[in-house]
Amino acid sequence: MSEGPAFLRFDAVRKCYDAVVAVDTVTLDIAHGAFVALVGASGSGKSTLLKTVNRLVEPTSGRVLLGGEDVSGLPAPALRRRIGYVFQSIGLFPHMDVARNIGIGPRLAGARLGQDRIGELLDMVELDAGYAGRMPSELSGGQRQRIGVARALAGNPELLLMDEPFGALDPVTRDALGERVRALHAHLGLTTVMVTHDMAEALLLADRVLVMEAGRIVADETPRSLLAGKGGDAAQQLVAVPRHQAERLAELESG
Ligand code: ADP
Ligand code: MG
Repeated sequence: MSEGPAFLRFDAVRKCYDAVVAVDTVTLDIAHGAFVALVGASGSGKSTLLKTVNRLVEPTSGRVLLGGEDVSGLPAPALRRRIGYVFQSIGLFPHMDVARNIGIGPRLAGARLGQDRIGELLDMVELDAGYAGRMPSELSGGQRQRIGVARALAGNPELLLMDEPFGALDPVTRDALGERVRALHAHLGLTTVMVTHDMAEALLLADRVLVMEAGRIVADETPRSLLAGKGGDAAQQLVAVPRHQAERLAELESG
């Protein structure tokens, strides 16, 4: 793949918890503007690897570089302002309305988001401005996750990290929100890393798919080359699932 200089670089990153090697010497460059999916079974180290970027996890050894800077040398609050983070258990504050939830990051940094900006962020996730005053308990799961995305974008991040962001959503909402995030990624010029255990989602949304197994990256391919059979056994076992489903659907349709 022809790519520019690395925007995000993992340099022999390793993370151990006692005897468990959660991330095993990962070396990887991610170009500015890439949309990368990180796929793998539960426990393969996806979340741990992602969290080394915003320093929720400190590597046992190795370095993570963002824009050429070692993240371990950056103050965590300043670093996290440059990074939007969306995680599965959304984590909205139940006692704060939508506007306050969206503005929490900038507020911690001493900035207040105006009503216009809140409206703009809601618009990005296809919710009308009237949602600003709602409480999280008054939202559906999909709406809450939209707020999670709006909150991640509130500080104008360069990098968007998403950890199984749509896992808990129904398929229709999940599909719509995935496409929305893909459009925002392009529109806002983001670099995006999305963890998912769903290979179909990875193939449809990402332009680069990494497969993780037992702490290591075992495949690094474009969706097209994965579909053409590349990437090795672990990757092909994951690709077989949506392929088999598509074949069965095609059979049903023609039969
Ligand atoms: P994934 O996100 O792919 O499901 P994780 O990165 O959460 O995997 O976990 C990778 C491995 O590291 C697992 O064996 C998990 O049990 C272990 N692990 C993750 N976080 C911790 C922690 N805080 N303490 C101990 N072990 C952990
Ligand atoms: Mg995880």
